[in-house]
Amino acid sequence: MDSDNTQILFGFGRIAAALRAGEWQAAGGHGLVPAQAEILSRIVKAPLRAADIAAHLGVSPASASDSTAALVTKGLARREPDPADGRARLLTATDVGARVAQALAAMPTPLAGALDTLSIGDRGGLLRALTILIRALQEARAIPVQRMCATCRHFRPNAHPDAAKPHHCTFVNAAFGDAALRLDCGDHKQASAEEATALWQRFDAT
Ligand code: SF4
Repeated sequence: MDSDNTQILFGFGRIAAALRAGEWQAAGGHGLVPAQAEILSRIVKAPLRAADIAAHLGVSPASASDSTAALVTKGLARREPDPADGRARLLTATDVGARVAQALAAMPTPLAGALDTLSIGDRGGLLRALTILIRALQEARAIPVQRMCATCRHFRPNAHPDAAKPHHCTFVNAAFGDAALRLDCGDHKQASAEEATALWQRFDAT
């Protein structure tokens, strides 16, 4: 038996290949490339400052700029003044863009079908493990900051005695379990460094 991470890394490689294939297939069906589809799926939830898109996607500013320009040219997104900063511009989805984003999200992919076979317990375990891995990658500055529960001011980890739904979100004022942990949430409110450390200690205590 391998005692190192070889088998896990191999598994991630296989899943990444399936994910990429699904992304190209889904985006291509709407005349997009995956980076354009990802920007569209983000701005349909909340407009993004043009200057922040590269950081959110973890790509170069030139690549983000090309993808943004393509979405605007295709009539799927538009640039608007940012009410919070007169010099900044917000990228917003048009009505057509919102419909395309909705169709992209609903498009079945082999990986989405495989995920549907997970039990609620396996799904919770996977989301918990992904939360831990993504936080470690963020701490190592290997990926951009993610809008996930573990760094959210609204997150109250292990606030309830119910083992099925131990966490609480103060934004929607509801309890939830690991299977509903968010790795990208439009309602995320970034916790301060001090708050994030305390949240993590409480989340990781079980
Ligand atoms: S607002 Fe979103 S990220 Fe924050 S705790 Fe609630 S579900 Fe999680």
